[in-house]
Amino acid sequence: MASIFTVECPSCGQSFPCHTELWQAGYDLLCPFCQATFPQERSPRIVSATGDVVRNDTGAAEGM
Ligand SMILES: [Zn+2]
Repeated sequence: MASIFTVECPSCGQSFPCHTELWQAGYDLLCPFCQATFPQERSPRIVSATGDVVRNDTGAAEGM
């Protein structure tokens, strides 16, 4: 079963959903907002389908 996580674009800061299958395949990510492509490790913020923050390098607390 495919699952989805949320990734934040390092270019425009928008968050968008991405399939974990693409992640595991090692593809670069494409931002649907600004069309930027970037390696997975460039994303400042990644949230799994269960809502766990996998990575948060934004340095800003969001008060969730
Ligand atoms: Zn973007």
